[in-house]
Amino acid sequence: TLCIGFDFPFGYPAGFARALTGTNDPLAVWRWLADRVTDTPKANNRFDVAAEVNRALGSGQGPFWGNGLKRDIAGLPRRKDGYRNPFPDMRRAERQAKGTFTCWQLAGAGAVGSQVIMGLPVLARLRQRFQSAIAVWPFETLDCPVAFVEIWPSLMANAVRSECARRPDAIKDAVQVELVARALSNLPVEDLSKLLDVAAPEEGWILGLGHEPQLSLRAKPKSLQPPPLRNDCFALPAGVEWIPAATALTQLEQGMSPVTEVERLPIGHALNRVLAEDLLANRSNPPHPNSAVDGYGFSGALPPGDHVLPLHPGRAAAGVPYEGAVPPGHALRILTGAVLPDGIDTVVLEEDVSKDDTSIALRGPVKQAANTRRAGEDVVQAGMALPKGRRIGPADLALAAVTGAVDVLVHRKLTVAVMSTGDELVAPGAPADRGQINDANRPMLLGLLAEMGFETVDIGIVPDSRPELQSALDRAAKEADAILTSGGASAGEEDHVSALLNEAGAMQQWRIAVKPGRPLGLGLWNNAPVFGLPGNPVAAFVCTLVFAAPALRRLAGQSWSLPEGVMVPAAFEKRKKAGRGEYLRARIRDGRAEVFGSEGSGRISGLSWADGLVELPDAAVEIKKGDLVRYVPYASFLTGT
Ligand code: AMP
Ligand code: MG
Repeated sequence: TLCIGFDFPFGYPAGFARALTGTNDPLAVWRWLADRVTDTPKANNRFDVAAEVNRALGSGQGPFWGNGLKRDIAGLPRRKDGYRNPFPDMRRAERQAKGTFTCWQLAGAGAVGSQVIMGLPVLARLRQRFQSAIAVWPFETLDCPVAFVEIWPSLMANAVRSECARRPDAIKDAVQVELVARALSNLPVEDLSKLLDVAAPEEGWILGLGHEPQLSLRAKPKSLQPPPLRNDCFALPAGVEWIPAATALTQLEQGMSPVTEVERLPIGHALNRVLAEDLLANRSNPPHPNSAVDGYGFSGALPPGDHVLPLHPGRAAAGVPYEGAVPPGHALRILTGAVLPDGIDTVVLEEDVSKDDTSIALRGPVKQAANTRRAGEDVVQAGMALPKGRRIGPADLALAAVTGAVDVLVHRKLTVAVMSTGDELVAPGAPADRGQINDANRPMLLGLLAEMGFETVDIGIVPDSRPELQSALDRAAKEADAILTSGGASAGEEDHVSALLNEAGAMQQWRIAVKPGRPLGLGLWNNAPVFGLPGNPVAAFVCTLVFAAPALRRLAGQSWSLPEGVMVPAAFEKRKKAGRGEYLRARIRDGRAEVFGSEGSGRISGLSWADGLVELPDAAVEIKKGDLVRYVPYASFLTGT
């Protein structure tokens, strides 16, 4: 829900609505005013409308007073002497909120009466224009996309004062608005529900009144934090020329840390988000001992031999507990999931008994606690339900729900910008002249990132020009937490990505000993980590899966993790020399790993043909058909373990 706060009362003191409109409905007052108030940039008739109210309600001497105009208006006293007001001077909310003004005073220093008369018709018109989209708090149920709420920024006077002292040039009203908005949006959902839970059907209420300490606490701006990534996070030890893939991954593990802020979300909105704190169980699963089967319950073990137990009247079912106690030696009908009643700790399957109207007969032995589930046998209350750093999957939602989670602290989604570089590139789908090719990397990389659960920013194609690349990187660093570029990452004359990042002093060329490879350019651009992938789509794909994916997961708040491969018999033969690892495009058919016919790194069809990669070690190997090789599905690279 979008919450829009207005800094004036939504209702008048008790009794006014009925006297004016014949009903207690404050929204009828809104309509009454909207029908009469005229409002242009130059002039409005608020004093005349107030006088009309005073005359309509009989006395002509109140409730409204104060006239900001030169001309006298019949029925609107200028001063409070001789003033008569049949209604309370203030709402209950104003009596509680020290420093608020009465809504009856229309003119003079600090008066708010005119704001109410002019503000309510605007809200009434917005309501009429966007009818079903707006709910007005606290008069209506908040089941619309937009909620109108009444705020009073002076509730957080202390927080405002200290923020203004910290920023002497700031405008106080702007600070007030900023703090209220921040405080409300930072409130955990359950606290916000408490704030919203007021009954003031006629007068309305100030949101947060009575909860000032909680609000002020949340209004504090974030304290100054060091940037999450160190400037040298991609630095390799001096003198390193070629690094084995495993070393590169260890370097990434040490250099990367979470970069996204955290927020609290109801569990229904937490799928694919990353937990920012351990989630402890609010309640045990199961919360009570219960029956694992449909059958009959009784107390204690039964020895070998035949047994007849009298049947106790009633039954226990899931959601319908049996509240009485079952006497020893008696049996009770019990269904799967039913809480074990007093006097029952053991259940026998209904298929294992014969029964008549009064008794059941069964054959022993039966072990005590047979066919029952212990309270907390799955998860105990206050025990760990899900660890920090875990990406929440559907099964995790089940566990969070059953252990009573309401909302969870998660990281904001990581946003990753993607750009392709090269003068030869035209957009996917665009006509390509001789010498041009359609950009394959961008759709591929955007797709991989989407599957990882990240937000993406498509920066487009950037020509081989330093100024253009520079502004593209500037934009990407502004809009995203991390950047993937492809192309131009080697050391050639058109390799502007590496040249530019080198000049900025932030670039590291990682010559990783893998095939397909090419150097991977890594650096920070305005604090945003840049992964400079090779232009060749096969190499870009493999580098993303193997190196960028685990690093991005870590930036997103996930614990460091690498994919778990499986050893499968090879359906191919291959010899390779020592010195570098190799990734072969592979798929599993009939339980064996097949590899793509050509290892040519330009063969995009092979990427699409494959479901995963076979990973060959740095050492020399000679693989014969049937030898075990390590196969990792594409999906495992994206999720890690
Ligand atoms: P580069 O790393 O820029 O030297 O590019 C290496 C090879 O990959 C060249 O043949 C490029 O044309 C090709 N290439 C670069 N970027 C892309 C892209 N986005 N889509 C398809 N091919 C590309
Ligand atoms: Mg290029």
